[in-house]
Amino acid sequence: MQGIAYTTNDGIHISEEWVTKNPPNNPNDYGMVVHELTHVVQDYKGGDGWLTEGIADYVRHKYFEKDIDKLAHQINPDNSSYKQAYTTAAAFLFWLEEKKDKDLVRKLNAASHDGTYKVESFKQLCGTDVDALWKSLTPLRGTPTAGNRAFAFCLCACHTKSYNVFRGDALSLVPGKFCR
Ligand SMILES: [Zn+2]
Repeated sequence: MQGIAYTTNDGIHISEEWVTKNPPNNPNDYGMVVHELTHVVQDYKGGDGWLTEGIADYVRHKYFEKDIDKLAHQINPDNSSYKQAYTTAAAFLFWLEEKKDKDLVRKLNAASHDGTYKVESFKQLCGTDVDALWKSLTPLRGTPTAGNRAFAFCLCACHTKSYNVFRGDALSLVPGKFCR
C-alpha cells in the first residue's frame, strides 16, 4: 500500500512493510494506531482536513506519547502554518487550550462530528479568527543577545515570564525545567 497508515469506513489500514522494518514494540507504531483510532471515533461530517489531522495528533501526543507540551515549544508561526496539520496543528490546539479555552478541542470535535463546524468557529470560541490566533502564538523565538544565549518565552501557563536559555537548548525546553 501507499503511505504508512490510513482509515476508511471499512477499517484501519497499516503498511506491513513499514511496521516490520522497525524493531518490535516501536512506540511510534502504537502512536500511529492511536492516531488512526481517533479517526474512527471522529467520523466527521464536516470540518477541515488540517483540523481533523491535528485533533488525531493532539490525542496521540497529549494522551499517549505525552509530549505535546514539547511540541508546543517547537512550533514557530514565522516559518510554519497550522495548515501543515498533524503535529503542528496539534501543538497549536494545545496552545489555544492553554491560552483561550480549556475545552476547545472537545468543542471543535463535536462541531466537526455533527457538521456544524465552520472556520468562524475559532472566532466564536476564541474571540479571534484562526489566522490571527496563529500569528499571535508566541513561539520559542531565539533573539540572540550576548554570547551564545538567546531570549525565549515559555508557552506554558507562566507564559508572561521569560527565560535565558542556551540557543542550542531552545528546542528541548520543557515546562517545569525553567518555569516552576
Ligand atoms: Zn490521519
